[in-house]
Amino acid sequence: MNFQNTIEYARQLDEQDVLKNFREQFYIPIINEHESIYFNGNSLGLQPKVTQEYILDKLEDWANLGVEGHFHGRQPWYTYHELFPPLLSPIVGALPDEIVVMNELTVNLHLLMTTFYRPTTQRYKIICEAKAFPSDQYAFESQVLIHGFNPDDAIVEVAPRQGEQLIYTEDIIATIEANKDSVALVLFGGINYYNGQVFDMAAITAAAHKVGAYCGFDLAHAAGNIHLKLHDWGTDFACWCSYKYLNSGPGGIAGAFVHQRHITNKNLPRLAGWWGYDKASRFMMDKGFKPIPTAEGWQLSNPSVINMAAHKASLDIFASAGMENLLAKSTLLSDYLFYVMEQINVTSGKKIIEIITPKNARGCQLSIQLKQHTKDIFNALKPHGIISDWREPDVIRLAPVPLYNSFTDVYHFGEILNLLFKNIPKNVE
Ligand SMILES: *Cc1c(COP(=O)(O)O)cnc(C)c1O
Repeated sequence: MNFQNTIEYARQLDEQDVLKNFREQFYIPIINEHESIYFNGNSLGLQPKVTQEYILDKLEDWANLGVEGHFHGRQPWYTYHELFPPLLSPIVGALPDEIVVMNELTVNLHLLMTTFYRPTTQRYKIICEAKAFPSDQYAFESQVLIHGFNPDDAIVEVAPRQGEQLIYTEDIIATIEANKDSVALVLFGGINYYNGQVFDMAAITAAAHKVGAYCGFDLAHAAGNIHLKLHDWGTDFACWCSYKYLNSGPGGIAGAFVHQRHITNKNLPRLAGWWGYDKASRFMMDKGFKPIPTAEGWQLSNPSVINMAAHKASLDIFASAGMENLLAKSTLLSDYLFYVMEQINVTSGKKIIEIITPKNARGCQLSIQLKQHTKDIFNALKPHGIISDWREPDVIRLAPVPLYNSFTDVYHFGEILNLLFKNIPKNVE
């Protein structure tokens, strides 16, 4: 693409954008009486305007029907979660039976590790990325401790090479091979939350399986953001949250995937609860757990219908936008951001912005490091109407999201950043 760093050009791209009208379906936070440039969908997705209606429906049914809403609501609560697998199927690349919506992300990670991390004295290691999201690190550590192993020995992290930012697939595979007799589980993020790198999930799954280990992914930053093919890759399990790219509200109900070859296996150990119990005989209240032979067999509890309503509001928008369209726009929009950032380096004659996200292995998120006055510039973004996020020690994460961000957002962001570089007093540092 021969991009141009002008407002006319950005407007032209917006004109041609088949998803341009979707922005109107979201509340865009206001700063100084103007719509902000919201680049934080990787952290908390914006609220669809219809979400309130979806939730109100549930509140009305509860008000009008009381307990009867479970079976006689307009969309009965008892089976409401069954609406999700078909909607999530194109988003995560899985069969409906492999998907369940439940709990929150870290909870699901623990539930799935309970099934798929079954260490023995011989095979007990977890291979993961260095600098995994803290919640995942704590989950790994506590799982290892519960099984009586030492985290220092049992958790093997694959780190970027000296002086580099990215983790090479060949290094991940080499680490799996080097631990081939002792690794029990390979567990990576689909996208590293910090630098935005997408991992080669097909290659990682294949390498794990080759040495007899299970393989799982935390898709917090991947679900709704990149092309996923969980079923075809053969990944054993995965989980994700719904409040980032999936716009389902803070603390929204999360999701999980268990591969088809495992879902009918009643002998897989798991933490059980009544919502995972065989539906036909659930209310016989008998002893002895009989799991549902789909990913639903990992459910524990009757889920919050309020949270599910917010999730449904957002996934209906995904369905009408179409995952293919979203991915195509995402690539173009974030390529444009890449270009605009590089232009700032070009026009200033030096590299003041370092993009640490790999150009060819990423979703819409770009992580940048500024070579000067980083925190001052970050702090100045918000008064200029830009909502982005800061990760210690020196990274600004920017996520132009295809559902509600525009090419003019990207253009204006570049313009403001340029302005801030020019107007920083020289004696600040
Ligand atoms: C956002 C995120 C989480 C958050 O976990 P919750 O249980 O939803 O609070 C966990 N892991 C990763 C990789 C994340 O990006």
